Amino acid sequence: MKLDSSIQYVKGVGPKRAAMFARLKIYTIEDACLFLPRSYEDRGNVATISQIKAGENYTIIGEIMQTGMLTTPRQRRRIFEAVIGDDSGIMSAKWFQFNANYFKSIFKKGVRIMLSGTVEHSRFAFGGKQIIHPTYEILNSGDKDLTHIGRIIPIYPATEGFNQKAIRSVMKVIIDLHSHLMCEVLPLHIRQKYNLIPIDKAVRQVHFPDKGVDIQQLNKGISAGHRRLVFEEFFLLELGLAGRRQKLSEIKSGIAFKPKGALSQSLAKRLPFTLTTAQIRVLDEIKEDMSKPQPMHRLLQGDVGSGKTIVAVLSLLWAVEAGYQAAIMAPTEILAKQHYFNIHKFLDELSIECVLLKADLKTKEKQNVYEAISSGQAQVIIGTHAIIQKKVNFHKLGFIIIDEQHRFGVMQRANLMRKGVYPDVLVMTATPIPRSLALTVYGDLSLSVIDQMPPGRIPVDTKLYYERDRSRLYKFINQQVSAGGQIYIVYPLIEESEKMNLKAATDMSNHLAGDIFPHLKIGLLHGRLSGAEKEAIMRDFKAHKLNILVSTTVIEVGIDIPNASVMVIEHAERFGLAQLHQLRGRVGRGDKKSYCCLMAAYPITEEAKQRLGAMLSTRDGFMIAEEDLKIRGPGEFLGTRQSGLPDLRVANIIRDAKLLESARTEAFALLKQDAHLSKPEHKLLKDALIHKWKDKLELIQVG
Ligand code: ADP
Ligand code: MG
Repeated sequence: MKLDSSIQYVKGVGPKRAAMFARLKIYTIEDACLFLPRSYEDRGNVATISQIKAGENYTIIGEIMQTGMLTTPRQRRRIFEAVIGDDSGIMSAKWFQFNANYFKSIFKKGVRIMLSGTVEHSRFAFGGKQIIHPTYEILNSGDKDLTHIGRIIPIYPATEGFNQKAIRSVMKVIIDLHSHLMCEVLPLHIRQKYNLIPIDKAVRQVHFPDKGVDIQQLNKGISAGHRRLVFEEFFLLELGLAGRRQKLSEIKSGIAFKPKGALSQSLAKRLPFTLTTAQIRVLDEIKEDMSKPQPMHRLLQGDVGSGKTIVAVLSLLWAVEAGYQAAIMAPTEILAKQHYFNIHKFLDELSIECVLLKADLKTKEKQNVYEAISSGQAQVIIGTHAIIQKKVNFHKLGFIIIDEQHRFGVMQRANLMRKGVYPDVLVMTATPIPRSLALTVYGDLSLSVIDQMPPGRIPVDTKLYYERDRSRLYKFINQQVSAGGQIYIVYPLIEESEKMNLKAATDMSNHLAGDIFPHLKIGLLHGRLSGAEKEAIMRDFKAHKLNILVSTTVIEVGIDIPNASVMVIEHAERFGLAQLHQLRGRVGRGDKKSYCCLMAAYPITEEAKQRLGAMLSTRDGFMIAEEDLKIRGPGEFLGTRQSGLPDLRVANIIRDAKLLESARTEAFALLKQDAHLSKPEHKLLKDALIHKWKDKLELIQVG
C-alpha cells in the first residue's frame, strides 16, 4: 500500500464502500488520512446503569431487554421505548421522533447497544431512569477493539447510506494500518520552533485520540494534531505562492517602464486636490515595480472612497507615456462601464484615446474598436474579461488593471498574461479583503494598501429603520433636502426578477413624487434606460437639478457626487455586507455630514441580522471584510476552486489565522535560503509541494 493507493483495496472496503467514500471526495489512503472528523464524542467513561445520576451526561452499554410503542395519555404523542439492562440495573431509552419500521428492525431483543445522553428521573421509566433521544450505536460482538467505545471517538461527516459506525470502522483500519505512510516533510527547525508533533502521530491523534487529549480542543479543531496538519497545509500553500513570486522575479523579459512622468504630472496638476500621503506612497511602490524588468504583480487595496481610482489612472499613464497600451478589466459589464465613466474624463483632458469594449456594440462598431486596439490607436481599453477571451489583438499591451470584486481567478489572470509580453499587473478590489484571504488567495501578489482617507471626510452615520419608522425616515429626508442635501434611494438588484425590481422602484418613485415629496424633484434610474438617458439623469443629479435619485440597481450609483448626503437602502437585509459598505461609501464624500439609512423588512435571517449589526458597529472597511468572512465562512466568501489554488482540506483561514501567518513567514524564509528547494534535505518537501499543487504549479510559470 502507498499513500496514493485507492482505498478500495483497504481491508473491509471494496468497490461499494469505495463508491460511498468517493461521494465524500475520498479516493486514496492519503485522502482518508486527511478526512477529519467533524466532531468528537467522549465515550471514554462508560458508566454502569447503577452509577448514573439524573442531570448528567453518560455513555452506557447494555443489552436490549424489550421494546415497545406507547402513546402519551394527554397529548397523544407516540413514543418508542427500549428497555436496556446491564449487570447493574435497567433503564429506559425513549424517542418521540422515530421511524417505527426502522426502529423495530434494529432494536431487537438481545442486541448490544451503546447509548449517550442526559439522564432523567422518571416514574414512568424502567428502573426510574431514562434518556430521551439518546445517541446510540448498535454494537456487535467484535466491538471491543476501542473503535466505537471506551475512548474519545470521531464523528465523521456522513453521507447517505453510510452510517457513522461503518465509516468509523473503515477509518480505524486505515489509520491503524496505513497512517505511518504519511511522510514527514516539514524541516525540523520549523517543527521545533512551533512545537509541531510528527505528521503520522498527528494523523492518528485527530482520528483516534489518546486518552487525556482535551476533547474541547479536538472539537474546536485546535488540538496538537490539528495544529500540525493545519500548519503543513498552510505551509505548502504558501510555499507554492512564494514559488510563484520567485518565478516572477526571475523573469527578466518584462517591461521596465522609464517614463518621464509628464502625463501623470500634468493630470495631477489638474486635480482639485492634493494626493494623500498614502496615495503617494502606493504610487511610489507601483512606480518602483514598473521600472523593473520583472513583471509587476501587485494588489492594491483601500477602503471605499480612499481614492484608488486616481492611483490606478496615474499609474497607467506611466505605461501610456512609454508607448504601451493599458487595459482595465472588470468582472461585469456594468462595472466596466462605470470605470469607463469615471476614467475617460481624466484621459480626455490629456487627449488619450480610451475605448470601452461593450458586448452590445454593433458588428461594425466592434470591428472599429478591434482595429483601434490592434493598431495601437486605442491607448486605454476598458471592458470585461471579454478583452482576453475574444479575438482581440493588442498592438502593444504593457499594463493591466484587474478590478477583481472577488470574482476573477488566477486562470483569467494567466490567460491575460499570455496576450501581452508579461505586462505589469495591478489587481484592485472594490472593498478591502480580509488579511487571511489576502495571504492565501492573493498570497503571490505584492500588497499596497491605501490606509488613509482623503482629508476632511466627515464620518457617515448609519441608522437602522423598519417599516414602522418610515414616516420618521421621510421626515428626515425632508430635513436633509431643506438643508441642501441630496438623497439616494436604492433598491436591491436581484437579477432573476429585474421586472419586479423595476416595478417596485417605479411604484416607489411615483408614490414618493405624488404623495410624499410633491415639492421635490425625483429622478428614476434603472437598467432599461439607454446609456444616454442614464447619463442625462446622472448629470441632472450632479447639477443638483434633482433632490432624490431612486435607483433599481446598485451599480449605477457607484458614482461620485459629493453633495449627496443620504443613502437610503431599501430592503437592506437583502444586500451583502461588502455591497452595503460600498453603497455607504457613496455618501460622505463632500463637506456635509452624511447618513446611511438601512431600511430593513421582515423576514430577516440570522445572517442578515449580523450584516446589519456589522454595518451599525463599524465604518472600517477592513473590519467589515473580516466580519463578512466570519458570517459567510471562507468557502462562500471566495471559492478556492476558482482561485486556482489547491483546496484547503484541514485548515480554516478564520480559525487558524495565526498559524497561517507563521506558515507564510516560514515558507517565504525557506525559499529565500533555497530558492528552488534543491538542497537534499528539502527533497521530500519539494515532492510534497508538487504533489499538492499538481497541475496548478504550471500556472506558476505563466504568472
Ligand atoms: P475608491 O475607488 O477608493 O472607492 P475613489 O477613487 O472613487 O475611491 O475616490 C473617492 C473620491 O475621493 C473621489 O471623489 C475622488 O476624486 C476623491 N479623492 C481621491 N483622492 C483624493 C485626495 N487625495 N483628496 C481629496 N479627494 C480625493
Ligand atoms: Mg515592470
